[in-house]
Amino acid sequence: MSVTRERSGALDTARIRADFPVLERTVGDKPLVYLDSAATSQKPRQVIEAEADFYAHHNANAHRGIYLLAEEATSMYEEARAKLARFIGAPDPATIVFTRGTTESTNLVAYAWARRELREGDEILLTEMEHHSNIVPWQLAARDTGAVLRYLPLTDDGLLDLSDLGSLLTERTKLLAVTGMSNSLGTLPPIRELIRAAHAVGALVLVDGAQLVPHVPVDVTELDCDFLTISGHKMLGPTASGGLYAKRELLERMDAFLGGGHMIDEVFHDRSTWNAVPYKFEAGTMNIAQEIALGAAIDYLEALGMDNVRAHEVELTGYALERLREVGARIFGPLDPSIRGGAISFWYKDVHPHDLATILNEEGIAIRAGHHCTQLVMRRYGVPATARASFYVYNTSEEVDALVEALAKAEAVFGL
Ligand code: PLP
Repeated sequence: MSVTRERSGALDTARIRADFPVLERTVGDKPLVYLDSAATSQKPRQVIEAEADFYAHHNANAHRGIYLLAEEATSMYEEARAKLARFIGAPDPATIVFTRGTTESTNLVAYAWARRELREGDEILLTEMEHHSNIVPWQLAARDTGAVLRYLPLTDDGLLDLSDLGSLLTERTKLLAVTGMSNSLGTLPPIRELIRAAHAVGALVLVDGAQLVPHVPVDVTELDCDFLTISGHKMLGPTASGGLYAKRELLERMDAFLGGGHMIDEVFHDRSTWNAVPYKFEAGTMNIAQEIALGAAIDYLEALGMDNVRAHEVELTGYALERLREVGARIFGPLDPSIRGGAISFWYKDVHPHDLATILNEEGIAIRAGHHCTQLVMRRYGVPATARASFYVYNTSEEVDALVEALAKAEAVFGL
């Protein structure tokens, strides 16, 4: 199989690449090959300019003043909220709380929902493929409430092992927290089925959307998840942008999270009352410019079409898996690109991932090496780390070829 840029019909990558200034960079004398979008995506000039435009022409605090600039800042910030709501199929912008990203969103739920609702002996069901940010907040909540953590295990192929689902997901389960797409294995768990099964026993479901939302069309109304966490910086937006979607009745019931300005209605000497949702969860000066620029990232993705974004990734991932396997790389995670995303973890021969990443860097190729904040995955497959290449809308089959050629150089360096 040989996928050329011309044959990859879903996206015009040459045109897209022209929008990303950083892709013009060199590393030494080599062109940059950026294969680490699962860690953070690159930003098109439309997003960079949206953030600069806010600071240059509209900068004021949102939801504070009544002068022109303040009103512009407020309406741009709220417009970004409406865009994010529409992008994920949320019924109402008020169901979107702006946060700095997925980690903050998950912690918000762990504090404002879990600590209020969980009792001793209640169970939280996680999976062994979760990012640490979808494990540690629940460990802390379990410690404070007496709740118990359970884990869905993994198969040898990097899928969720659902053979014991009936005994792990029971009336004791109050929350299932599951990734929409694994950042180390690439796996797309069957979240629709899991949400249905969880609701059947009365449990709520939090979907970690850090990798899902940037890469796959998502409709929370159709999915019927209770919470969805979103990382703006992985979907072409600035760092410290993102949000939490939650069903409105849950947001109404939840406790406040951070206390401070704007999240209150009235403050007395001994108590306060809360602002309406979502403002109840947005204390202090927010990441206004970043969320507005996230709105520009959403415009960009919508113009490409999320179906095309996904189709491009399936094609590129299929090509990369095939080429990596041809040269003898061991892949961690499913081999079928239709049930996975474009984060590919691998070992190449006996080269330690850190050594591999160092040698690839000399070729201008940026990949990640490490545990990818998924130590349970590393333990499950008996490795301390993996090399990980991950793709996005600007990556091409030529870059996959560059990766594979550089592996041969690493092999030569290590005399394998
Ligand atoms: N969940 C997954 C699956 C991730 O890949 C990441 C980041 O790598 C996170 C959560 C954390 O996201 P953020 O950087 O927005 O806090």
